[in-house]
This record gives sequence, C-alpha cells and structure tokens, in this order.
Amino acid sequence: MKVFKFGGASVKDAAGVRNVAKVLSHSPDDDLLIVVSAMGKTTNALEEIVWAYVEKKPADERLEVLRAAHLSILAEVAPDDVAAAAELVLHFDKLNARLKGKPSGSPDREYDQIVSQGELWSTLIVSAHLKHVGLANTWVDARTIVRTDGTYRTARVDWDLSERRAVGLLDEVAGVPKRIVTQGFIGSSPDGDTTTLGREGSDFSAALFAYLLDAESVTIWKDVPGMFSADPKRFPDTKLLSHISYREAIELSYFGASVIHPRTLQPLQKKHIPLYVRSFMDLTAPGSIIDDRNENDSLIPSFIVKPGQLLISITPRDLSFIVEENLSGIFWLFAQRNVRIDLMQNSAVAFSVVVDDSPRSRELIEELRRGYEVRYNDGCELVTVRHFDEPTLHKLTAGKEVLIEQRSRNTARFVLK
Ligand code: ASP
Ligand code: MG
Repeated sequence: MKVFKFGGASVKDAAGVRNVAKVLSHSPDDDLLIVVSAMGKTTNALEEIVWAYVEKKPADERLEVLRAAHLSILAEVAPDDVAAAAELVLHFDKLNARLKGKPSGSPDREYDQIVSQGELWSTLIVSAHLKHVGLANTWVDARTIVRTDGTYRTARVDWDLSERRAVGLLDEVAGVPKRIVTQGFIGSSPDGDTTTLGREGSDFSAALFAYLLDAESVTIWKDVPGMFSADPKRFPDTKLLSHISYREAIELSYFGASVIHPRTLQPLQKKHIPLYVRSFMDLTAPGSIIDDRNENDSLIPSFIVKPGQLLISITPRDLSFIVEENLSGIFWLFAQRNVRIDLMQNSAVAFSVVVDDSPRSRELIEELRRGYEVRYNDGCELVTVRHFDEPTLHKLTAGKEVLIEQRSRNTARFVLK
C-alpha cells in the first residue's frame, strides 16, 4: 500500500478536487490510502467560528459561507450524488445545532470538535468525486483508527492501539481496489471525543498511517515541485534537492523550511518508508525523494532565511556570571510562555537568544526584566546555511551587519541586521 497526501491548497476548489482524480489516474496503483486536509482556508475559518462560539457571539453567518462553498463544490464535482449531498448537509446541520448550544468550559475541547469538521467535509467531497469518475474508494473516518490521548489541539498518538485498529481496517477493506480516502489532522481520545494533532498536522497523519500500515511509500502532493535548496518563492536561483536523507530533511524543516512538517519524518525513518514530495500541478516533474541515503546531502548548499527575529540579550543585574541556576530559570520562562529559541549563545555575563518577534516574545522580555537586564535588537534575520560554501555565505551576508555568527561542520548560522 502507498499513502498519498493532499493538502488544503490542492483541494481549494472544484478544479483542485478534479485534479486529485487526475493525479490518481496517473498512478498505476490502486492500493492507496489518500489523506486529505480541509479545503483551502477552511481550518482558519473554523477557528474563527470557534472563538466566536466560546465568546458566545453569533457564528451562523460564517458557517453558512462554508456550507454554501462546500455544497457548491460537491454539486460541481459529483452532481448526482444525492447521498453525499445529504450527508454533507447533515454534518452542517449538526454543527449548526452545536453552535446554538452552550459552549462547555473547555475552549480547546470545543476547538477540536468544531475545527475537525473541515477534514470530514473535504474527504466526503473528494470521495464522492472519485466515485463519480469511476475511481472506486472507501471513505474512512480517521477517528476510528487514530487513537490519541486527551490533549486537545496537540493530541499525542497512542501508536500501539492505533496500529491494532489500522490492521483491523485493512482486513475490512480487503477488496480490490483498496483505495481508502481519509482525513489528516484528526483522531479520537479515550473518551471518544475528537482530537486534533496540531495545525498543519496532515503531513504527520500521512506518515502516521504509513507507519501503522507498513506502507511502501508516502507521496505529499504540493504546489511546489519538491524540496528546494531555498524558498523558491523568495530566491530565484534555487535548486531542487532531488534526493536527501531523513536526517537532512529534519534539519531543514527544523530550521524553518516549511515544505514538510518536521514531525512527519520520524515515523517514516523508523520504518525506512521513503517520502516523495511532488507537484500536483506537474505530474511529469520528478520531485524530491527523502529516505535513508545521505550521499547527496552535502552536494548543494541549502539556506533558510527567517525574517522578523528578535535578538535578546540577558544579563544578571549584578553582572554575576551566567551560571546554570540563571540559565535554568531563563529556560523555564521560555518554556512557560511557549517561546521557541531558534539560536543561543553565551558569554561570561550575557546569554543571547534569537526568537520570533511576537506579542508573546515581547511579554516575555517584560517578564525577564524583573530579574535581569534585558536588551534587544528587532528586525533581525536569522540565516541558516547547511553544507555551506563561501560564495553562498558571501551572497547571503553581503551588505548586512553580522550580529552573531556560528559555524559547525555542516551548518553556518547568522543573525543579520
Ligand atoms: N487543516 C489543518 C490545518 O490547516 C491540517 C493541515 O492542513 O495539515 O492546519
Ligand atoms: Mg491546511
């Protein structure tokens, strides 16, 4: 079995849904599990509905916009599927009824029950369209397989239980062809509530299903033709990374390359399942392969540029050395406020970190100021270069002030202003 994943951008409208069928028709396999995200910006719209609901503000109009959009796409891509239309209407009616009721005390729980709907709608539509064009498939509710703990919005997967359920599923849909259409991003808690795996979690879902089902490979269909040595939307002369290792891909996504979610790679690596990143717009483009082999990792320097960074430098007021006690207190504050440190450096009396400039980071600065002298530089750029060479470093730093420079064997990092 192979796993295919289609993100929100690939199914944002009727043309996108039709294109999914086109991608499948190009692929000779019908032993496929197809993971689909919510359509376009549906998840964002559902988040707004949740926040309105928990603040007891009306959300009906917003929901009606989503209902109309989904029903009209379904009508375009599966015009005579009365059953699918009835089912979709039922989903919307149920959600509408929920929004008329009183929110429970837990906004995060409400979030998961409501935001998860986007994936249910999109998969109903995709499944109906595939049937309409003769691609037989079984729609599966991912919540019957993906068992998680009860941490709403960032649920953790119970791998053993999910594995048992996945094997059960395969036995059930043993017929040929075995195309299964299911949702990314969602699971269910031990209490039977819906849970979600964190924003942009569908890549991870695809990897999770591949792991559970011992799949042969995972293909993520994207609007870019693979992983590149830099963001092709920002830099003109980027190169396709046609074959890199899991380790390299994890490093790149950790430093901010947004093509694949870093969590996606671990389950695949554990079972040596290759990941293909390919373009849903150009089915002849080869894309990128990510697997165990690392011989190509160092061939092309890759770089990731993160703008909008804060360089914060923290000094004890009495100029005492930055000792472990201070550091553990500082780290605790960062963890508490969920501010991720992207780079750090220390001297005898100062500890410097680079973080995203966000309201949370600004609040943290104020909190740190209670115990430390804190200075910061805003508007910085954090540049990470893997497998660097001097021309690449020169190109990226030319004309800029270098506030921090760190180099290890494979990685060079700069804080620039
Ligand atoms: N629909 C979810 C989101 O937008 C999950 C995903 O797309 O990966 O975050
Ligand atoms: Mg999405």
